[in-house]
Amino acid sequence: MPVFTKNDIVTVTIEDISDTGEGIGHIDGFTLFVSRAVPGDIVRARILKAKKTYAIAKTEEVLTPAPGRVTPECPVAGACGGCQLSYLSYDAQLALKQKKVEDCVRRIGGFSEVPVLPILGMSDPRGYRNKGQFPVDTSVGRNDGEPVLGFYAGHSHRIVPTDSCMMLWPGHEKILTAVSEYLRESGAAPYDEETGKGLVRHVLMRRGAATGEVSVCLVINGRSIPKADLLWRKINPIPGIVGLCLNVNTQKTNVILGRETLPLFGRTTVTDRLEDVSFEISPTSFYQVNPVQMKVVYDTALSYAGLTGEEVIWDLYCGIGTISLFLAKHAKRVYGVEIVPDAVANARANAAAAGIENASFFEGAAEEVIPKLLSEDTTGQMRPDVVVVDPPRKGCDKSLLETIVSMSPKRIVYVSCDPATLARDMRILCDSGYEAVKVQPVDQFPSSVHVESIALLQRVSNTRSRSITLDVDMEDYHRIINGDDHKK
Ligand code: SAH
Repeated sequence: MPVFTKNDIVTVTIEDISDTGEGIGHIDGFTLFVSRAVPGDIVRARILKAKKTYAIAKTEEVLTPAPGRVTPECPVAGACGGCQLSYLSYDAQLALKQKKVEDCVRRIGGFSEVPVLPILGMSDPRGYRNKGQFPVDTSVGRNDGEPVLGFYAGHSHRIVPTDSCMMLWPGHEKILTAVSEYLRESGAAPYDEETGKGLVRHVLMRRGAATGEVSVCLVINGRSIPKADLLWRKINPIPGIVGLCLNVNTQKTNVILGRETLPLFGRTTVTDRLEDVSFEISPTSFYQVNPVQMKVVYDTALSYAGLTGEEVIWDLYCGIGTISLFLAKHAKRVYGVEIVPDAVANARANAAAAGIENASFFEGAAEEVIPKLLSEDTTGQMRPDVVVVDPPRKGCDKSLLETIVSMSPKRIVYVSCDPATLARDMRILCDSGYEAVKVQPVDQFPSSVHVESIALLQRVSNTRSRSITLDVDMEDYHRIINGDDHKK
């Protein structure tokens, strides 16, 4: 294996891309992670850091460009850690994501036959994001110590100053200008990650695409900001603005948001709408960042759920209840489970505002809440026909997968933002009585390496004797008690 040292120059063919967007290449079994390089490129790269079996390198020159390589339109491409695929045409991005999902399903999941359908992309893959979060820092040396707003460079907490982002909705740049002006005029100090001193950590902005409502939230190391009315005066005239609030994060952590949100002016939430349901979204609640592709994902989930109006559905990792409420009118009953208290409060309020009475929401970790609820459900009414899961990138907790299997739903709809953990969890479910029917990739995050997928699994048999007993008993019980046979 070759030995490299810092500043060595190498020529390498890029074969793959990492989860964080570096091109991956090999030289005699030695792995190189090369920034600003995409699969198919041959690049001359400088070694920045060398370890025993791998090295971090930076592209110095593209010798042979990958098919579909383009010059990024964004002025901070490469410096900013956000859009790792901006070096590829949109078609090439889609092809790469399709391959990523297929590779995970085949290699990690071991599913050679399961169809991975052609990825659903966007007709215009820019300006799609309805949420932005910009770190605030003091840029000593570059800007005379003035506060700067920007994005983090890849793998670092060094800020690349920016006054707009091509992936955010047009108009958001006015907010950045207003906050920058406020920081300069008010003397509110940017937070310093190293010392833990200073006040303003992040600017969070969120927009409801269907309503045009926009809210701004400053994440601060404290409970108040100086001259708050000055900031409101600057922000209030921007079209769509409905509120300005503070989020308290006094921890020395790189987690952006703290738990507590304090209202300042107007509302803390923004409203968005999907078909006839409105959603209130708190700053701390998860909400899909791409409204166009969110609908594509939910439509796919709805069709995979195969609803007739008679089903009991569990929507696990439900956030503010978007999927639950989207499915509710096609189902008998929906139960949502979510760990963030604000999101559960949003979900309940959203259901009430829409007059949806067949959806209930439970707060807590799904893997803990469900076994408890099931043990209390003596009538079997809560037993699901369909389970929808939409976990964070790390996938489902193993004990949750076991609980899902023990509940024996006919169908599992797995909405995933990481095909590797999706494939792992599909394998676990398919070793426990389910079969994978199909996987649909969706491009929710153009220009980033991330890809969303929806998988449909259906029950084939019950491999556990306990499940078999439970299954038969509960089905009979349900028919006898309710006089219906929809679970046949
Ligand atoms: N289905 C929702 C949210 C998906 S994001 C939507 O489409 O908008 C994943 C959600 O899982 C987040 O809201 C996160 O807070 C929640 N979460 C993370 N870990 C959890 C756990 N162990 N149990 C329940 N919810 C969890």
